Amino acid sequence: MTQFQVNPPARILLGPGPSNVAPSVLLAMASSVTGHLDPYFQAVMDDSMRLLRETFRTNNQLTFPVSGTGSAGMEASFCNFLEEGDTAVIGVSGLFGERMVDNAARLGATVVPLTVEWGKIIEPENVAAALKSCKKVKMVAVVHAETSTGALQPLAEISRLAKEHDALFLVDTVTSLGGHEVAVDDWGIDICYSGTQKCLSVPPGLAPFTANEKALTALKARKKKGPSWYLDLSLLSDYWATGRLYHHTAPINMVYGLHEALRLIAAEGLEKRIQRHARNGQALHAGLEAMGLILHAQAGHRLNVLTSVRIPDGINDARIRSALLNEFNIEIGGGLGQLKGKIWRIGLMGHSSTEANVLLLLHALEKLLMREGFKGEAGAGITAANKVLQS
Ligand SMILES: *Cc1c(COP(=O)(O)O)cnc(C)c1O
Repeated sequence: MTQFQVNPPARILLGPGPSNVAPSVLLAMASSVTGHLDPYFQAVMDDSMRLLRETFRTNNQLTFPVSGTGSAGMEASFCNFLEEGDTAVIGVSGLFGERMVDNAARLGATVVPLTVEWGKIIEPENVAAALKSCKKVKMVAVVHAETSTGALQPLAEISRLAKEHDALFLVDTVTSLGGHEVAVDDWGIDICYSGTQKCLSVPPGLAPFTANEKALTALKARKKKGPSWYLDLSLLSDYWATGRLYHHTAPINMVYGLHEALRLIAAEGLEKRIQRHARNGQALHAGLEAMGLILHAQAGHRLNVLTSVRIPDGINDARIRSALLNEFNIEIGGGLGQLKGKIWRIGLMGHSSTEANVLLLLHALEKLLMREGFKGEAGAGITAANKVLQS
């Protein structure tokens, strides 16, 4: 029997995450393993926390990567701050809003979901009405970049409303951090989590997290200990932020990878990186529309890092996606939940957000769609994208 040795293909990752990872990040992850309390590793922890504060644009002391993927960040954010009897107002504009509702409901909290059609944003009036109709709301939670729909949720007005009602404001920035502007302190976000495999371009495995003093005061005021030992923020804080007291062994080489990715972000400049995502995302939007395709997310609120586009009538979803993979080595995503079979999701995240990838994807998609009988003007997509890229 031959042994199976892992030797994965080097794909062009243009789906909803993971994104491509820079070689220096992979190299950092292949470094020697130190002890997790080794002075060297502790220095990496300190500097990773500093870089994460810069990326989240916060001064919060408790800013560190939770061990686990983005969903672990979500779970930590809910299970530490909500308990039985609390009320949470949660925006549901896609799959990740639904996941938030599931998290809050499992904790015995009363959930007030604000549901909109997938692809649209939550309007502040609806948040205001929900807050008015409840006696005391502990938390208002929304997803900044809904990866299942491609919509970017404006936060300013919702943040103001949460404050007016003295509720904690929780934001999921899994897909926005490192690709769209995120300003935790300026925007009055009390609790925020992200993930490594989207615009930070690290393999999946960590969930950057930050919480301010107001959130930590609420944590101390809990009636009972939270239900999760592994995700208990007071224990995690004793390990990461204050005493370096052993709680669990940090995934050391994941932290090396995260540190290198955050260093790359600082070297590029956060502002410039966001502009790069904007230019490439807008070029893709222009190219897809020029091909005659329809963008799914609400106009004016489209993500630059993840584009949802409707699958034209008569085109087979799976056939196009497998041809992209087999003939062009490109991964894109299909629709989730109610959008399954209806949209494609094209990511331009972090290291994957390049001019070359925009042009290659437009060429590949045009060629495959035309082969399937889709009528369009050859080259129209690339021409329109080039106009944006050259402006
Ligand atoms: C990907 C994603 C998550 C979940 O992250 P995992 O790493 O898959 O656990 C949560 N929220 C949003 C908005 C996401 O895009």
